[in-house]
Amino acid sequence: MSTQHHMQLPREILVGPDAIREVQKILEKLGFNGRILILTGEKTRFIAAEKVEKQLKDKEYNISVRIVGRASIEEAAIIAGENKENNPAIVIGIGGGSVIDMTKVVASKLAKPYISVPTTASHDGIASPRASIKGTDKVYSIEAEAPLAIIADTNIIKMAPYRFFASGCADLISNRTAVMDWKLAHLKTGEYFGEYAASLSNMAAEIIIKNAQLIKEFNEQSIRLVLEALISSGVAMSIAGSSRPASGSEHLFSHSIDLLTENTALHGEKCGVGTIIAMYLHKGDWKLIRKTLKTICAPTTAIELGIPKKILLEALVKAPQIRPDRYTILNEVKLDYSKAERILKKTTII
Ligand SMILES: [Zn+2]
Repeated sequence: MSTQHHMQLPREILVGPDAIREVQKILEKLGFNGRILILTGEKTRFIAAEKVEKQLKDKEYNISVRIVGRASIEEAAIIAGENKENNPAIVIGIGGGSVIDMTKVVASKLAKPYISVPTTASHDGIASPRASIKGTDKVYSIEAEAPLAIIADTNIIKMAPYRFFASGCADLISNRTAVMDWKLAHLKTGEYFGEYAASLSNMAAEIIIKNAQLIKEFNEQSIRLVLEALISSGVAMSIAGSSRPASGSEHLFSHSIDLLTENTALHGEKCGVGTIIAMYLHKGDWKLIRKTLKTICAPTTAIELGIPKKILLEALVKAPQIRPDRYTILNEVKLDYSKAERILKKTTII
């Protein structure tokens, strides 16, 4: 190949019970002893960040803690502005998906590395080099660095509601159709396709499909399995140099819903339903996708997502406009309202 391909991977990954106790040791190992900026949420500070604050204070680190409110591009700019003079050596994000996404953007604006300490296993953003973040008019997919370290404490993740965990699994299942879309784009537009990244990403989906029964148990073994799959999915994106291995038409559908309406459905839940549609359009085994989502108790219908039928319909029709540069099966089938309605009915989503 004539062009150079850059891959950036995490250096330290720690998964297991009480992993959060090791944050200071990992910082030390990585050679950080200067100022540290911690980003966290109101609840997650109490559940997790306080433990890290104590470790670092005991070792006399100079830390500042910022509670992230509404995760948005504007808020990320404000937080980065507040901390420019402080000049932290590293940013640590301790929280759910949106805290981690904010951490990526803030770290990137400050041109500093960051550590990802997820408190839920709700999506593969915990390890990926991309942030999905809301602006006033659209959802931005921002290129960031891969985390320098990922520290995932299974005891903390166990404390989050099961629903978040199921959503993370649905996000992983969506890798199946993301890879199909990527391959299609390669055939139709000549876009770069990475066989290795695609296989790694597919494997993360397969392992969830195969272990759906175990996942429901939400025990140490299943949490570890899902975390490893989420991290692999993030690494697949690092290897590909884009979100392609884990984000196709099903993700466009999910982002399209978010632009149309405020909703309480989780990212992975919307992508899971999107995967049923995408797999149907690819003429693949969409029933297996639906069955797996049902087994892990993730939504498979408009009612379960809590989103009105007409929004899902509009979201599906408008999905290709979300990222016109991203070629997917939606570019092939060109859905109008009546076709889209037929598909949503056929797949029993509405
Ligand atoms: Zn996703």
